[in-house]
Amino acid sequence: MTALPHVLHPQPIAAAFPSFLTGPSLAGMEKYLADESRRQGTAEAMSFPTSTAEVVGAVEEANEKGWPITVSAARTGITAGAVPEGGLLLSLERLTAITGLRQAADGTFYLHCEAGALLADVQKGVRTGSFADVAQWSAVSKRALEALKQVKLFYPPDPTETSAAIGGTVACNASGAHTFLYGPTRPYVQRLVVVLTDGRVLDLERGTHLAGPDGRFGIAQPDGTVAWGTVPSYLWPRTKNSAGYYTAPELDLIDLFIGSEGTLGIITEAEIRLVAAPETNCAIMTFWPDEATALRFTRALRERRAELGVEAIEYVDPNAMAMLRDRRTTLGAASGIPSCLSDSAQSAIYLDIGTAVAALPQVLAELAELVTTCGGDPEQCWSAMERDERERLRIFRHALPETVNSMIAEARKRHPGITKLGTDMAVPDEHLERIMAVYREKLDAADLTYVVFGHIGNNHLHVNILPRNPEDYRKGWELYHEFARTVVELGGSPAAEHGIGKLKTDFLEFLVGAKGIAEMREVKRLFDPGMRLGMGTLFAA
Ligand SMILES: Cc1cc2nc3c(=O)[nH]c(=O)nc-3n(C[C@H](O)[C@H](O)[C@H](O)COP(=O)(O)OP(=O)(O)OC[C@H]3O[C@@H](n4cnc5c(N)ncnc54)[C@H](O)[C@@H]3O)c2cc1C
Repeated sequence: MTALPHVLHPQPIAAAFPSFLTGPSLAGMEKYLADESRRQGTAEAMSFPTSTAEVVGAVEEANEKGWPITVSAARTGITAGAVPEGGLLLSLERLTAITGLRQAADGTFYLHCEAGALLADVQKGVRTGSFADVAQWSAVSKRALEALKQVKLFYPPDPTETSAAIGGTVACNASGAHTFLYGPTRPYVQRLVVVLTDGRVLDLERGTHLAGPDGRFGIAQPDGTVAWGTVPSYLWPRTKNSAGYYTAPELDLIDLFIGSEGTLGIITEAEIRLVAAPETNCAIMTFWPDEATALRFTRALRERRAELGVEAIEYVDPNAMAMLRDRRTTLGAASGIPSCLSDSAQSAIYLDIGTAVAALPQVLAELAELVTTCGGDPEQCWSAMERDERERLRIFRHALPETVNSMIAEARKRHPGITKLGTDMAVPDEHLERIMAVYREKLDAADLTYVVFGHIGNNHLHVNILPRNPEDYRKGWELYHEFARTVVELGGSPAAEHGIGKLKTDFLEFLVGAKGIAEMREVKRLFDPGMRLGMGTLFAA
């Protein structure tokens, strides 16, 4: 019988059994119960499989014991998706091999990795043409590697935290500053190997299994029947979005797993697409007399992103600039903030440019003209062509989140219950000015201290509220929720890149409504009938 393209056929494979830590042997393993959200979880057992077969063995053991399973990778997530709520913590940190490379007939290169391979190792390997596991590669992969060395390629997904694992970035559909030009992780994922909670394994290649025109798709069951489901009917926001199961007409079923935050299956291997890297890169910091001119410049750049090779547009708002100046005054050179930061610079826009070497002078000239047209002064811009100059700009940019974190740490000494309130929301292009006005009006009226910075190219700004005391914290939380509702009303996303995890489940409901949550639950039930994978993530337990 010919397999229908909208029916998935997971296969049984021979399981191998990894060791498990339980009871007293869990002592000293507390770091695996937390991620960068700082939430602390609990687990009855932990396992660190080294192959897909061992993941299957771990799943079978968990099934036997009735343990829920939480998958974790590098634990850099900040919404507690990898934090277990009891049961088995399945860490993929030992599945780290980069196992091969292939060049398709059209010349495209695809890199094959285990899910625990680190993003930093992938990026470095592609850049240098050198991979730790190459001795184990097939002859075909080694030939492809020789071809790779003749071209300049890269893997575009760039969450700031490059110690994240490939599986984690796929599970979160990670994005970052360069998403402005290149998009998030999803379009770069060509193939996934996924272990389902019944222990069968799906090997899913992009373009091979689609939902039908009515949104229906099925999973073949061990007894030969097919369990049918439907992709969610909510509309996907026209912005960056990391909230909820992806949906689209005739959805490619691989896209259900990308961004599912460890709730549908355990990704053990991924094949990712590499693309041509620009011949040369430069970074430019532009300064603006006020926010309005900075926003004007953002709009102008957006229209010319491909032509000028604008990879990222990042914003630093007037409050953040003032905070950096203060830090410079307090810490001097140790702050990493250059002394020449002009007082007339009220806000800043940082650009990454990637272009051809021959085109660079023209691109820079056109950017200078654009700065002038928008009300800025090209003489005040800092451009960084060489690696060490780019590093100077990087230190300047990173001084901002570091300063925010140190201010929160200070406040926590007096009021330990306080945490940073940092938003992760994006709106469609036409609502950038409106959302900025909403943020300012509400935060100023509440007399809160805050800074705004981040991915303005995608209208995805991180508003960081810095509570000074518990009352500020309470007001900040209220506004945080109000902003999430406003962003959804404007057609945007309340969780644009960090996911929902366990901390923002109410935001998911704002976005997709009770009906959308019910539809997502049905999809989950199809892959995970016992609802035991990633308990508490996406859906409140
Ligand atoms: C300083 C800092 C900056 C950051 N900047 C960005 C940014 O710019 N953009 C961005 O998108 N994110 C950012 N993040 C968040 C984080 O780095 C990303 O979400 C990243 O994708 C998480 O990868 P990880 O390997 O650490 O996954 P983990 O944190 O271990 O897990 C994250 C989620 O994925 C699931 N998961 C992990 N591996 C698998 C797997 N193999 N199969 C199934 N499910 C799995 C987990 O269950 C969990 O729900 C940042 C984090 C930090 C600390």
